[in-house]
Amino acid sequence: MFQIEVNGKPLQAEPGETLLKVLKRNGVRVPTLCYLKDRAPSGACRLCVVEVAGQANLVPSCAFPAAEGMKIQTHSPRVLRARRTVVELLLANHPDDCLYCVRNGDCDLRRLAGELDVRQRRYCKIERRPETDNSSASVVREQSKCILCGRCVRVCEEVMGVSAIDFVERGSHSRVTTAFEEGLNVSGCVGCGQCVMVCPTGALHEVDHMGRVLEALADPALTVMVQHAPSVSVTLGEMFGLEPGSDVDGALNAVLRRMGFARVFDTGFSADLTVMEEASELLQRLGGKGPLPMMTSCSPGWINFVESFFPKWMPNLSTCKSPQQMMGALIKTYYARSQKLAPEKIFSVSIMPCTAKKGEAARRQMRGEGGLPDVDAVLTTRELAFMIRQKGLDLKTLPAELPDSLLGERSSAGKIFGASGGVMEAAVRTAYRLVTGHELENLELKAVRGLDGIKEAQVKVGDVTLDLAVVSGLMNARRLVEDMEKGLRRYHFVEVMTCPGGCIAGGGQPHDTEPELVKARMSALYTIDRKAKLRCAHNNAEVQKLYKDFLGEPLGHLSHELLHTSYAQRREGE
Ligand code: SF4
Ligand code: SF4
Ligand code: SF4
Repeated sequence: MFQIEVNGKPLQAEPGETLLKVLKRNGVRVPTLCYLKDRAPSGACRLCVVEVAGQANLVPSCAFPAAEGMKIQTHSPRVLRARRTVVELLLANHPDDCLYCVRNGDCDLRRLAGELDVRQRRYCKIERRPETDNSSASVVREQSKCILCGRCVRVCEEVMGVSAIDFVERGSHSRVTTAFEEGLNVSGCVGCGQCVMVCPTGALHEVDHMGRVLEALADPALTVMVQHAPSVSVTLGEMFGLEPGSDVDGALNAVLRRMGFARVFDTGFSADLTVMEEASELLQRLGGKGPLPMMTSCSPGWINFVESFFPKWMPNLSTCKSPQQMMGALIKTYYARSQKLAPEKIFSVSIMPCTAKKGEAARRQMRGEGGLPDVDAVLTTRELAFMIRQKGLDLKTLPAELPDSLLGERSSAGKIFGASGGVMEAAVRTAYRLVTGHELENLELKAVRGLDGIKEAQVKVGDVTLDLAVVSGLMNARRLVEDMEKGLRRYHFVEVMTCPGGCIAGGGQPHDTEPELVKARMSALYTIDRKAKLRCAHNNAEVQKLYKDFLGEPLGHLSHELLHTSYAQRREGE
């Protein structure tokens, strides 16, 4: 450790640290628009410049190493002037669309312009209104609002291993686009929305489904039903000022009813159902029917990724539909029949942490009888928060309510689906019970918890010791699959979540994904699990009733028809 002086005060720095890192750690706020935590600095935006005594020019703090005795000024008049000029230059080419922008109220560029007291356009505008790319079922690109920070390009390449977008041309013609400037739908884009999470402006956002939901809610001929994914209850509260990791499950059911949804279901129910089907499928494959390792299929970005980049591994994907789609299929069959409702008069909405879920719901394979979609609209957590505010409701003051029955009960195994490792842990609990007839003594599989990109575990189930892997972040998935192709790794069962850390950091969640926040969300899910009375999918009474009254048995004829699918084609609906 050594000492530097910042704004006249001593601060401790460690060898190898950049100035920005020291400043952040010590709570000195310096703005950046291109910085990404744990990634090499690009120095593209020049907003983090500081004044270092003895240096003629201002230096970018994100790339400048701290050195013993260094004296720096972070907010001197010269520094503020430079930052203001940077923002003014960015705004010179920017549309004045704030009032109509999806990021209105939540835009880093707009906030900075305010903070730096930018009150007039000092540089003349070069009129450039590139077309908006609406081709994807998941993500919209509004190039006119792009400030070329490069965050999306780096996340897509370095974290997701996809490289669907990149910079083209130079100077004032420079822009971020897809190969051959085609639509995102025909690029390698998997719809994950991780680029949306890091974009500081409204240049990237989810495809808006709010309009179609509001229309359906206003239509007296429709019964509008909603399901909410396991992770949403531990992230939504942040958007209403609650502590990260606050669980608003009961208030979420209440607010959805007040918004006009006729039934509220918990996707944790169909996560339990997924566990029943997936654990049974694993046992079937271990018995020789189907290739190993079996790979999970809950995460639609991962499905898109396999289809686009590793098609030879398609047969390894579990045939189970995701919990969203299983719930959708059951709402329009089992539930519709039980309530004597016509499926075509049901509008089925899901609240998801994920932009790729919009693409998943739009696939042709995800349609039931008569071509009816299992799920009609998918709202991200962000869209739900927007609609709650629009309806004048306050999440914090609502009393807790339970979800509706038949498709509402869930075990905490279904709840931990929201975190990377959760599907694996839930499936192991049930596979053990199916094989041995006994409950697993220690339900918690700690080796697959946490934020590491690749986690491994071994579990003895009956006579077999299962080799398991849990991966999150598609770059890690790419590494794992490439290792498997070289014969360097062998497993029986692999869980893959598209987004780093799982759904709690999905592309539809609140924009902030600082690791501390994600850890708080994860810890909330495991606390729910630890305190739950019902911790295994196979003990869920509503799931048992569903098999008894309707489906028959896991992997039975009707299960296959409604709950399983084939991923043998490239993405459809996009
Ligand atoms: S991206 Fe930000 S600055 Fe640009 S129009 Fe939207 S809110 Fe305004
Ligand atoms: S949605 Fe995902 S895959 Fe598509 S461009 Fe963004 S980061 Fe890349
Ligand atoms: S689209 Fe957003 S994240 Fe990507 S370069 Fe433009 S402003 Fe940055």
